[in-house]
Amino acid sequence: MARILIVEDEERIASFLAKGLRADGHVTTRVANGREGLDLALGGEVDLVVLDIGLPGMDGFEVLDQLRSQGSTVPVIVLTARDSVGDTVSALEGGADDYMPKPFRFAELLARVRLRLRRSADAGAGPREDVLRSGRVRLDVRTRRAVVDERQVDLSAREFSLAEIFMVNAGQVLSREQLLDHVWGMDFDPGSNVVDVYVGYLRKKLGADTIATVRGMGYRFNR
Ligand code: CA
Repeated sequence: MARILIVEDEERIASFLAKGLRADGHVTTRVANGREGLDLALGGEVDLVVLDIGLPGMDGFEVLDQLRSQGSTVPVIVLTARDSVGDTVSALEGGADDYMPKPFRFAELLARVRLRLRRSADAGAGPREDVLRSGRVRLDVRTRRAVVDERQVDLSAREFSLAEIFMVNAGQVLSREQLLDHVWGMDFDPGSNVVDVYVGYLRKKLGADTIATVRGMGYRFNR
């Protein structure tokens, strides 16, 4: 799980990105202008920035420039119009940044996000570990594989995301709302029992004792 800042003034794109990234287990923050994006990115509570170039006020190039000149090394993926890819590439020259021409498929963006997060984790700068371990369960976030007692277990994408958020927060109680937001995004009715249903699936696959019900509060993944 990573904290991803989305700086994009087009509501449709921003909400599509936020929804997809949350479904991949990340925490997202959205802002629609460059100045606010810069402030948040400099605040340091961000593992990766998805940055649009065409923004009101301060554009994406200026945000990136300010960010780097103030010493931030946060990975940035720039969103750019397809017809200005040439300008973008020269603007990014030499920097440790990536770009994504619009329009793009979410899967392409996600692949780049994962790659960037992995690289910064390899460099020791990111919080993300490749293998999460808790009790008898191991979760490899690169290969999206789960292993219980040396036995490989098949998890669906949702089950994996749920297991991931649980294991990142092993020992802590997570509310249904937190789990719903992380794994399904906000487009689910909070009254839905989808979380309980999926916790049931995970217990079957990972072991009944892995996830405890904390009455009136939510669920806890046992360490
Ligand atoms: Ca824009």
